[in-house]
Amino acid sequence: MTEFSRRGVIGGGAALAGGLAMLANTAAAQSSGEAAATLPPEEILGKSAPFRSFRFPLGSITAQKQYPGGWGKEVNAQNFPSSVAFAGVLMELKPGGLRELHWHANAAEWAYVIDGNCRITVIDPSGKSEVLTLSAGDVWFFPRGHGHSIEGLGPNGTTFVLVFNDGTFSEFATFSITDWFAHTPLDVLAKNLGVPVSTFADFPKQEAYISLGAVPGPIPWPPAPGTLDTPPLTHGYHLLAQEPRTYGGGTIRLVSQKEFPISDSMAGALITLKPGALREMHWHPNADEWQLYLAGTGQMTVFGSAGRATTDRFGKYDVGYAPRGCGHYIENVGDDELQLLIVLNSGTYEEISVTQWLASNPKSLLANNFSVPETAFDGIPKGEVFITG
Ligand code: MN
Ligand code: MN
Repeated sequence: MTEFSRRGVIGGGAALAGGLAMLANTAAAQSSGEAAATLPPEEILGKSAPFRSFRFPLGSITAQKQYPGGWGKEVNAQNFPSSVAFAGVLMELKPGGLRELHWHANAAEWAYVIDGNCRITVIDPSGKSEVLTLSAGDVWFFPRGHGHSIEGLGPNGTTFVLVFNDGTFSEFATFSITDWFAHTPLDVLAKNLGVPVSTFADFPKQEAYISLGAVPGPIPWPPAPGTLDTPPLTHGYHLLAQEPRTYGGGTIRLVSQKEFPISDSMAGALITLKPGALREMHWHPNADEWQLYLAGTGQMTVFGSAGRATTDRFGKYDVGYAPRGCGHYIENVGDDELQLLIVLNSGTYEEISVTQWLASNPKSLLANNFSVPETAFDGIPKGEVFITG
């Protein structure tokens, strides 16, 4: 048995125990007729209520929306009750597949392009607009209410993940332009747009959501003189192009408001862990954490006070969740590199790590705290480790 598989078995036992406890709790909740309603984190975490699962298999559920131009599948507090503060959507668009012009009334949209190429368009409240071509490894951010669209480009379209900072959000109840037009009298549309009523004869009679048209060609570059009115802060960021912070066990590329100024209410990071590596024990004082596992096999434990800790195992397109203030750590328990995306609902990245915390205290205090000799702490790190392995 290799070092890694042995670690996996040990961890798997913990995961099994956590999973069984979770199943028992779910069964108890169902038999008592308790609704699977979302509980606020304070209520979940402040009492000795059982822990919910912090894993959702987004990759293996059936897409709730399927069109010739693409599909979308969604996770939010409705199908994943732990996800009080986030909704997420995995979406694929074919070349020429268009997630139509729309906006969101109650959430900002943070997105990461997993594969392929797409074109986004966005308009802000001052009327300034952007058209950006983005590729795998790029991020976009649309503040709440900004009008936008996403179009799949050649040769293979695009796969991306959308993350919204509200667990009650549904991507399938957004404000789409075809929906609004279909519910507006034609004479109003004609008056508004200054064209004959007949113009609208063949417009959709209901929401298009994802349409499919010709594969878009390149946009002329540079743009013609006098054609642009771009916002001062761009909506796109090339995350994978960023030089990562590198540790012995892996890397992180962080995109907060500091790196990406428009992203004022959300931050994200791309993390890689080598086999056996550990993203160390830490918590976020200011934010909940939503995760999408992209490659490899990971295991996360969430500590929730009052003797509660839940361990789940994650593979490709599994979603993980760590509520604000809950301790957590992630291990690569597979044989390949683990890649995951984390998203936080604050534009400012904050964390406190266990190593940093211990290092900031006198050894005499640590000895007192754990009732062991001071020498027990001789070998511990002098500061934050972040990723070890
Ligand atoms: Mn959107
Ligand atoms: Mn974290």
